[in-house]
Amino acid sequence: MSRVKLFDKQPTPAIEQPMPLDQALQWLSPHETRVKPNVRIFFSQAAYRKCFEHALSDLEHEVGGALVGEVRYDAGRAQTYLVIQDTLPASFTNSGETHLTFTQDTLVHFSNQMDELFPDKRIVGWYHTHPRLGVFLSGHDTFLHRHFFPDPTQVALVIDPYDQHAGFFVWQAGATLDPKHYIGFYELSDVDDHSIVEWENLTPVIVDDVPTESEG
Ligand SMILES: [Zn+2]
Repeated sequence: MSRVKLFDKQPTPAIEQPMPLDQALQWLSPHETRVKPNVRIFFSQAAYRKCFEHALSDLEHEVGGALVGEVRYDAGRAQTYLVIQDTLPASFTNSGETHLTFTQDTLVHFSNQMDELFPDKRIVGWYHTHPRLGVFLSGHDTFLHRHFFPDPTQVALVIDPYDQHAGFFVWQAGATLDPKHYIGFYELSDVDDHSIVEWENLTPVIVDDVPTESEG
């Protein structure tokens, strides 16, 4: 259980760049005001689609994987943020009805895939599904997150593909992790100008800069 070293390789430094707010649509969870995240999360549509489709591929068993991307820093806003750019579906998992576990082979596989496919990127977190169970971190999930994703910038995405609910669990100040209250994300439009997000528990923030026809 102490093979955490796989994820402890010297991480690539945070890239200094303003948050790409003009290319993003913000999605809010119902718990947004109860969480003070260390990081903001930008989720590229390409990575979202991979997660979404993997989640729907099995409505009986939990599936999951790693979230791959970059950690960036917006100096003007003094804000660290993630850009999730890709995913690595996990193989060699033990999935039961109630929880999914990454085995040693899963971790080795992630490490090899990162070296091969994404040498300049980081594992910025992980995702897994809770078919029909809802969006929360179980005791086991919290254990996995603490042991394998301890960096203050690493996040856990939980998806219930049955109800199409999802949310991100994040480290907060003092290394606290709230297993019940999750946050949304910024949808980064790298594929489509229109939103592709279909998670029904999240609400988009509509910026009213263009008058709509119904007005006036
Ligand atoms: Zn879980």
